[in-house]
Amino acid sequence: MVLVDDSIVRGTTTKALVGMLRDAGAKEVHLRISSPPFMWPCYYGIDTPNRDELLAANHSISEMNSFIGSDSLEFITLANLRDAIQLSGECCDACLTGAYPAPIPVVISAAGSRW
Ligand code: SF4
Repeated sequence: MVLVDDSIVRGTTTKALVGMLRDAGAKEVHLRISSPPFMWPCYYGIDTPNRDELLAANHSISEMNSFIGSDSLEFITLANLRDAIQLSGECCDACLTGAYPAPIPVVISAAGSRW
């Protein structure tokens, strides 16, 4: 089975979904994510956890695959995402790149540290 999801944040929901699919009889579960890894919190209206809780901010893709329990895990690149939605202008992609277009309320440090 190939499972497409829009993002992985903490990874707990995805892990539960993969477990349910295996319980239902899926022999293999291959995950394809239609956004690049979600590595930075959003300060502009989306309720996201801090970096310590973002799975992609603290683990390699291989480690994420193991945690989730999928057979393979791949993310679309930012360039391919922009192509897919035919985006030629600028727009926020801070949760994927860490490049915030407007001031944020805290100073961000390396993944794994408190801020
Ligand atoms: S793209 Fe920007 S506004 Fe949208 S969720 Fe990511 S950080 Fe928030």
